[in-house]
Amino acid sequence: MNCGETRSVVVKRKAKETDETLCFSRVHNNENMSQQDNKSIGRRCKLLCYWELPDYMKDNEYILRYYRANWSLKDALFSVFRWHNETLNVWTHLIGFILFLGLTLANLMKPQVVDLLGQLTRSFSSSADKNISHNFKDLFLGTALLFDLRHQIPLKMEFQSQELVTARWPFFVFLGGSMFCLLSSSICHLFSCHSHAINLFLLRIDYVGITVMIITSFFPQIYYVFLCQPHWQLLYLVGITGMGLFTIITLLSPSLSTGKYRAYRAMLFCSMGLFGIVPAIHGCFVNWGNPRRNVTLAYEIAMALSYLTGTFFYVTRIPERWKPGWFDIAGHSHQIFHVLVVVGALAHYAATLKMLDWRDSFGCANMLQ
Ligand SMILES: [Zn+2]
Repeated sequence: MNCGETRSVVVKRKAKETDETLCFSRVHNNENMSQQDNKSIGRRCKLLCYWELPDYMKDNEYILRYYRANWSLKDALFSVFRWHNETLNVWTHLIGFILFLGLTLANLMKPQVVDLLGQLTRSFSSSADKNISHNFKDLFLGTALLFDLRHQIPLKMEFQSQELVTARWPFFVFLGGSMFCLLSSSICHLFSCHSHAINLFLLRIDYVGITVMIITSFFPQIYYVFLCQPHWQLLYLVGITGMGLFTIITLLSPSLSTGKYRAYRAMLFCSMGLFGIVPAIHGCFVNWGNPRRNVTLAYEIAMALSYLTGTFFYVTRIPERWKPGWFDIAGHSHQIFHVLVVVGALAHYAATLKMLDWRDSFGCANMLQ
């Protein structure tokens, strides 16, 4: 179906001089439109109002205008450069994806240049860390793909063999999970206007992406904090992975992708996030003597606050519920949620760098066991 042919559901309300009047007249225009008129629209796709949408796209009744519906994949793709109510949803996470892709490549290739957040971290926490040398990190960050499961080694021995460098894979698992989430979200927002089947499929991929991001965020923290307690390390990693898999299987059910289950999905994501409180408190005790604990913790609290605030906006649909139609293009809850997800992921990135830095410098030294 061509995007100009979308038929509508007419809601008879007392129309104010607003969007509803506009939509109502557009509906009649559509109905009176001849085939010839449709052709004359050419390839230019019309943006619709909420009441004109097919049922499967009616997700947020507080966003009234600028919807795309039943657009071809090509039209949807090029709509990334056009203003509609998903434009900023696409771009907020697309920019986030590009940012994390850049950080990943930079960490893989030339870490010293990339470590911008690390530099900020250092200046921010210089009073706590002033006695700690970062030379070792600079030496070893380049060996990003080396895996090492034997960590209880005196620091001086690390020079003797590159194989003994602290493993980087949990760090890259987190970066990979974040990129997957951000990219799948952008794709979902861009193409879910194509058809009901694609919409359902992409929504589920989007939820899977969020779950993957949450799970993979735990990997570096658990791995590096409990580096010297492998039994706790394994227990927590298996626990969060199991919880994530359960969430993914649950979310793959089509019925749970509908707007009706918005709060249920948010609860699943939050419970995964709150699961992190247990290893976080445990990790604090384990690393009580570590001078970087407070800085790392501050970043993690910033991350948790970002995610929780984002979830609050996602569930409550503030501010558009206060002024329906005012935030159709910019400023609605989902865009705020997207931005806070990227901010939270960056805070987590900074915390992970801190922890990696510390492990590279001290291994299993300087901790209570
Ligand atoms: Zn989204």
